[in-house]
Amino acid sequence: MNFDPDKINYKKSHFINGKFRDDYSDKYEYIRPSDQKKIDEIPNASKDLVDETVQIAKKSFNESSWSSLKPRDRAKLLFNWADLIEKDVENLSKIEAMNSTRTIGETSVGDVFATANTIRYFAEWADKIEGITTATSPDVLSLTIKEPYGVVVGITPWNFPIVQIAWKAAPALAAGNSVIIKPSEYTPLSAFRLAELSLKAGIPPGIFNILLGEGSKTGHLLVTHPDVEKIAFTGSNLTGAKIMSESALAGVKPIHLELGGKSPQVVFEDITDIDSTVEKIAAGIFINSGQVCTSGTRLIAHHKILDNLLDKLKSIGKNKIPGPTWDMVTTLPPIVSKKQAERIDRLISESINLGANIIEGGEWHETNYGGYFYKPTFIEKVTKDMPVFNEEVFGPVISVETFDDDQEAIQKASHPNYGLAACVHTSNLNRAIKLSKNIDSGMIWVNHWGYPDEFSHPAGGFKNSGIGKDMGSSGINEYYKEKAIWIPH
Ligand code: ADP
Repeated sequence: MNFDPDKINYKKSHFINGKFRDDYSDKYEYIRPSDQKKIDEIPNASKDLVDETVQIAKKSFNESSWSSLKPRDRAKLLFNWADLIEKDVENLSKIEAMNSTRTIGETSVGDVFATANTIRYFAEWADKIEGITTATSPDVLSLTIKEPYGVVVGITPWNFPIVQIAWKAAPALAAGNSVIIKPSEYTPLSAFRLAELSLKAGIPPGIFNILLGEGSKTGHLLVTHPDVEKIAFTGSNLTGAKIMSESALAGVKPIHLELGGKSPQVVFEDITDIDSTVEKIAAGIFINSGQVCTSGTRLIAHHKILDNLLDKLKSIGKNKIPGPTWDMVTTLPPIVSKKQAERIDRLISESINLGANIIEGGEWHETNYGGYFYKPTFIEKVTKDMPVFNEEVFGPVISVETFDDDQEAIQKASHPNYGLAACVHTSNLNRAIKLSKNIDSGMIWVNHWGYPDEFSHPAGGFKNSGIGKDMGSSGINEYYKEKAIWIPH
């Protein structure tokens, strides 16, 4: 499935009220991650356009049939959308790979299907949300009903562009809201295809909208708009905090945030199949070149098995093939941007200056592709004052340390600031339960790494890793408000 990225057709327009819209009063340069070529200029949706879109979404929510459709009929249209996305796999997987750091080898078997299945999973919730009746004296009926908010804004990151749009848009739509998505400015070229297919699926105009633009401009305008009733965000910790404070000043509204992590991979000496464990750890650090919020960036291994693990992991790292996302052989995709590449260099060199030691890697592959490809990197002697401990690196970089007993493993696995995901590799069930209960993290994966291909698992973190959950029943409930009704009779 290798392809020529210059032959891919895309639209760089906003999608408002069922129509593509150009507005080039302000624009920015889009640079393709794999070859760092300036491909196009992308519009920043202006204040007027943001306002117009919010009003259209609000009107569509109030007047179109979407929120008042029978939930099963809403589900049917979402199923149509998922089917069309899946049928478009050959085309959409190429657009996504051209646009982002996702390789064609993965988008063609993974991302497109994950997008469609996320939509299906939430469509199935549309008629299953229930309120409650509460205990009262006999002459009162007290009950709750769940209602959609109205206009929901989803701000999405660049690491899994179409999947992340589905994570935000699908539950919001299933609940009956209207949605405005602002994809990352680094990967703006695939969202249009989801928009085209939404219309074809029968989702009414004005219900699913897309505004392109930079975070500090269009993103800021959206999250501070007084008529937006709910914000769903995935991205960096700093931006999440900013959105929380800036949006609140424009009017209190619910917000849920899926932010960064420093996820540990805790490995006990009792594992029975070291190769299978190594494969999972390697996936956790090398998939998307470590540009995943749940990347397992801290290897915490029992001292008896560290050397063995490390030898195997280094050998997998050495075999990763850097290359453009449109080449099927690529297994080490590019770092998304020059800014991000410089950030990796800074975090690593500052940590080295503070005493960290590179075991292997710590430098760039020399290629002719134009993009930035960081070598799989293993780093030891990392302490709590180092940037590589305190910040997400977002590269194929893993710190390495050992432990002697369960208590030390628990203490090292729980990070002071983050708590997104934590992996525990052990064959001892009691140990697995003990660590699952004692590590302070929103998701615990036992003998596993990665958000599973089953969408019932609530995704979200503790501490600075976020508030609320995407996915699962918790995920759909983020998009309803609860009304309490009191009826004396
Ligand atoms: P990254 O630096 O990895 O792009 P960000 O958290 O900055 O991570 O970006 C995630 C998403 O948040 C992107 O869609 C980006 O445009 C958006 N964003 C960035 N800053 C803001 C902001 N101040 N207000 C709203 N959205 C923003």
